Amino acid sequence: MKPPLADLHGRTHRSLRISIVDKCDLRCTYCMPEDQHFLKREELMTREEVVAIARLFVERYGIEKIRLTGGEPLLRPDVVDIVRDVCALGVSVGLTTNAISLHKHVDGLREAGSRSLNVSLDTFDAERFKRIARRDSYAQVWSNIRLAHERGMRIKLNMVVMRGVNDDEILRFVELTRDHDMHVRFIEFMPFAGNHWGRDRVYTYAEMLGHIGSVHSFEKLNDAPNSTAKAYRVPGWQGTFAVISTVTEPFCGSCDRLRITAEGKMRNCLFAREETDLLSALRRGEDIAPLIEANVLAKHAMLGGLPQFRPEKQEEVLHDLSARPMVSIGG
Ligand code: SAM
Ligand code: SF4
Repeated sequence: MKPPLADLHGRTHRSLRISIVDKCDLRCTYCMPEDQHFLKREELMTREEVVAIARLFVERYGIEKIRLTGGEPLLRPDVVDIVRDVCALGVSVGLTTNAISLHKHVDGLREAGSRSLNVSLDTFDAERFKRIARRDSYAQVWSNIRLAHERGMRIKLNMVVMRGVNDDEILRFVELTRDHDMHVRFIEFMPFAGNHWGRDRVYTYAEMLGHIGSVHSFEKLNDAPNSTAKAYRVPGWQGTFAVISTVTEPFCGSCDRLRITAEGKMRNCLFAREETDLLSALRRGEDIAPLIEANVLAKHAMLGGLPQFRPEKQEEVLHDLSARPMVSIGG
């Protein structure tokens, strides 16, 4: 095995997100513009191409964790086969999903070897769900989350907290962890193309802790070395909660993540503005290892080279964003 993929800032990379489809059956306002165009089928990586790229990252560069995402990964008819093939590489494989069609796949995913799901849920209110996700799917999503939990999947619930939209539900999400062994993660609202981000719409990490602390006392838990989330627990409660503070306290210094989009482009950061086309090179029969190594070497120290997300930098951030919305980056 080659030494792990290192960048010029001393970080090594052990974790890979692979988007396997850019389409979605929800249209969350913070993620997908209404007029989003999707890739044609032949532009997407095939199952074999996903696995070939994953294999190279695992066998040559020691990647240990792979997360399949999208768009909505469960929209791919071959999702369970992909999970099985990637699990066979001997790495931990998780999936990030909106859970709409999870009831059809949960047993298959378990049998294929995956035990961990990150599920998006931004509200417990069906009407509000419809406004945020532009689809009327709350009942289906919540029922599927409970089903997957009952079937033994480890569940992390991702809530994107937006000021004035769903910040009044933070306590309800924390209180879910009293009797449920689930892991709630509050994500600061991040800027991406077409998502109407404004610094004033970000409900901050500090505000979250202040709000939760005004009602519940909680303790800090140890975070894994490369964790993006800062984890807490209300003592005696079954689950945990955490904050992903990309906007107000970025964790770029310990980032070990790399990304591949559904059309096989490599991104060294969520906010990267440059991409490397691995799939075209793979289809031409070329060795893609030098492309991967060059992509990692070009990784910026912070936020893909964007200015820090301070209020006075808002115009600069919005101007400098990559052209991609989150739905086609793969979170
Ligand atoms: N469809 C799947 C889902 O919703 O979980 C996977 C793809 S989605 C792009 C991955 C994650 O990105 C979700 O947890 C979603 O909440 C998060 N996300 C999308 N846009 C975001 C934004 N603007 N700020 C913070 N998180 C965002
Ligand atoms: Fe779809 Fe997930 Fe984006 Fe919502 S967050 S539009 S479910 S990809």
